[in-house]
Amino acid sequence: MYGCPNRCRHCWVGHSPNGRMTFDDLKQIAAKFKSYAHEFEISVWRIVRGCEYVKWLVSLGVTKAQLTLFGGEALTDYYTGRTGAYREILHAVDILLENKISPRIQVFVNKDNIEELPLIEALILENRLPERCVAFGGEFSCFAHQDSCDGENAKLYNVRVTPDDLKKIPPLLTDYTLKHFHADNLNEVFGQTERELYRKLIADTSTGSYVSDSPVLYIDSAYNVYPNISTTAPYWCLGNLKESSAEEILRNYLSGKSTAQTVRREIPLCEIVKRCGDPNSLRLFGKQDYIAYLLNQYCEGMS
Ligand code: SF4
Repeated sequence: MYGCPNRCRHCWVGHSPNGRMTFDDLKQIAAKFKSYAHEFEISVWRIVRGCEYVKWLVSLGVTKAQLTLFGGEALTDYYTGRTGAYREILHAVDILLENKISPRIQVFVNKDNIEELPLIEALILENRLPERCVAFGGEFSCFAHQDSCDGENAKLYNVRVTPDDLKKIPPLLTDYTLKHFHADNLNEVFGQTERELYRKLIADTSTGSYVSDSPVLYIDSAYNVYPNISTTAPYWCLGNLKESSAEEILRNYLSGKSTAQTVRREIPLCEIVKRCGDPNSLRLFGKQDYIAYLLNQYCEGMS
């Protein structure tokens, strides 16, 4: 997480200041985790800033790349937090197609952009994105969902979609979304209302572990390390690479030593939802996203 040109309003990792790590700093960090890492993630932002990057993606065997839209130009720029983002995304789509990489369009849906979803449908059709992918043996894909509710995204809690909004998602976007999630209807994709989840979790005495077999870690420009579970708040921090070895930090991860992991492991869900949930809210959540949202609220309340 050297930095990011965007300031997305849905950014789950939160907006940490852009850093000043040198290339040597990055090489040192990569060397520390080299024996544990098998995959790299890429940025499509660079695609529009020089042809070398897309050639490198092609050489790595990339066949799909995801881009995010929110509606038309003004709204996409607003949500991405950067003027010109929409035009760059469209330019990136053309570059991807020219290089036989299929674009996948992700659409985040909130109450304040749902009326603009037909613009995305029109863009797909007018630019013949499915046909242009098929022409080189690729496949265009697209999906809409409401995303998690942490980091910057938690500030969008008040505009989170409710069940009555789902019928506003246009048919083509609905079809692509159901295909992407292998779902029969949009309720499966968008989850349950907070009220339903609250009623279930208020009787749930279980605790949980946030440890996966193949963790992804975030390292910020101050060398703090966080698990890719939720936002990069201090209560998720696993340690600092200037002070601890990669092995110590991985041990912290495995033993769930961050405050948030500790709360999830020790405090029953019923207590967390009682303190932080809204029994009357109709906002839609997937169950795990809702638990992460509650956990963050709980940890915020501790600090
Ligand atoms: S969501 Fe991704 S692209 Fe947007 S601000 Fe966060 S890290 Fe950057």
